[in-house]
Amino acid sequence: MDLPFAENYRIKMVEPIYRSTRKEREEWIKQADYNLFNLPSEHVFIDLLTDSGTGAMSDRQWGALMTGDESYAGSSSYFNLKKQVKEIFGFDHFLPVHQGRAAENVLFSVLVKKGDVVPGNSHFDTTKGHIEFRKAKAIDCSVDEAFDTNGNHPFKGNIDLEKLSQVLESYPHEQVPMIIVTLTCNSSGGQPVSLANLREVRQLADRYEIPVIFDSARFAENAWFIQNREPGYQNKTIREIVREMYELADGMTMSSKKDGIVNIGGILAMRHEDWFQQASVYNIMYEGFNTYGGMAGRDMNALAVGLDEVTSADYLENRIRQVHYLGNQLINMGIPVQNPLGGHAVFVDAKRFLTHVPKEQFIAQTLAIELYLEAGVRGVEVGTLLADRDPVTKENRYPKLEFLRLAIPRRTYTNNHMDVVAAGLKNIFDRRESITSGFQITQEAPIMRHFTVKLKPQ
Ligand SMILES: *Cc1c(COP(=O)(O)O)cnc(C)c1O
Repeated sequence: MDLPFAENYRIKMVEPIYRSTRKEREEWIKQADYNLFNLPSEHVFIDLLTDSGTGAMSDRQWGALMTGDESYAGSSSYFNLKKQVKEIFGFDHFLPVHQGRAAENVLFSVLVKKGDVVPGNSHFDTTKGHIEFRKAKAIDCSVDEAFDTNGNHPFKGNIDLEKLSQVLESYPHEQVPMIIVTLTCNSSGGQPVSLANLREVRQLADRYEIPVIFDSARFAENAWFIQNREPGYQNKTIREIVREMYELADGMTMSSKKDGIVNIGGILAMRHEDWFQQASVYNIMYEGFNTYGGMAGRDMNALAVGLDEVTSADYLENRIRQVHYLGNQLINMGIPVQNPLGGHAVFVDAKRFLTHVPKEQFIAQTLAIELYLEAGVRGVEVGTLLADRDPVTKENRYPKLEFLRLAIPRRTYTNNHMDVVAAGLKNIFDRRESITSGFQITQEAPIMRHFTVKLKPQ
């Protein structure tokens, strides 16, 4: 018989986690005001809140950490990382920053001004935040397929070229500082963008002379999808695909907490010398001197190794297989999820799961709490709580989709843990008809309320 797939690593160090009882969890979630962000991590058995900075580093990365150079200026760790950025992405100019949003802050300080518009594919919340903070506007030009959880479009992260043309046509050139393409598109479910689409975006951008920036948190997962789904790329290596992708960009921002496989850090890199000169000033103000930018030398060293590992075929095979291992179990159980499965998380379609909970009672949050109570698993609501209220009418905004996101940390849990998540959801699915009410808000902040909101059962 064919031998089954197995990860090409073994585990050298373990971290104990506590398997709590339902009775304990009932008490803890009440104490946390039914907000999973309020739970101490000791009260969580399997933590799928995020894949950001929560992964396990390799022995090579831990080794690199020990040889980090903590010199304020010109540390060897900086040059290691700069060399890796040049090799993988092809950019000559690089600034280390403390995480992804810091790269946005520094770059947008150079490029974005009041009244601008920035088209893209469902901008990530911090990206949108940094645009709106400058009194500019993020315009979502995602393909419509991104909003249909049933459809099997292989590249739901793609930009709709019609929508993009319309933006470029209707705003004056000076008001569009850049186009941002998010790889993979986090907000629409970790969905990839095809190289064909990147190429078409570039052509359109060239016609209007607008720069293109890649928000690169999950660039390697995106390349894996291109290799596996896009005709003509099956025989190319991940490295070759990444280079082909980034030849189409003027610059990149990146949270290293995702595909950098480190716990903290970020990258800002670009082609243009003049941007770099201006960005350097802001980097020094906000982040630190240009050869560390908010990162310790040891962290830059670990990141340089992380970038090497993440672009190897074996790593991505392990990674995406585990996400799909969980997703396919749920699909086989009849549980509605975002299709096709993305790269870093499984998105459970809460509206189609809990059909009896009114939308005013926070459907996805209700499912997230049920899963915590059932199995000690912490996922996160991507729905009405996250969407906040309309800034003008103060009414709740009800998004098209209500998701329970189960983000899988890199190299952290085994497939046995995935089995627990699936069984927990199956138990809830079997009694879904009996779940008819959700939660109401008792206290909330004016923006970003999902982090601190307090709830009580309806
Ligand atoms: C995480 C993320 C960011 C922000 O990065 P932080 O490191 O959390 O500041 C920006 N864009 C995307 C697509 C992300 O996933």
